[in-house]
Amino acid sequence: MPGPREVGSPNTPKKRGQPEPGTRCRDCENLHSGDLNKCKVCGSTEVFPVDLVNELVELLALTSAEADFVDPIPGLSEAGEVAALLRY
Ligand SMILES: [Zn+2]
Repeated sequence: MPGPREVGSPNTPKKRGQPEPGTRCRDCENLHSGDLNKCKVCGSTEVFPVDLVNELVELLALTSAEADFVDPIPGLSEAGEVAALLRY
């Protein structure tokens, strides 16, 4: 039985509350999905692991946007289980 929220690839389902690997660059501050050793934007190796979901929620909060967690939506699997509703 799938959890209330699944993230990651279809082969590695995760339940709500499990961290989703992300990587933040110390030099350019870019955020990437996955566990990387090198920044995809500037090429720096000064990167560190983060919880991607936490980072996304913090970015949303900075723009006064809201984050909701919902039950899995089959069509979102290929999009990384993340969607946005545009305000404008
Ligand atoms: Zn970078």
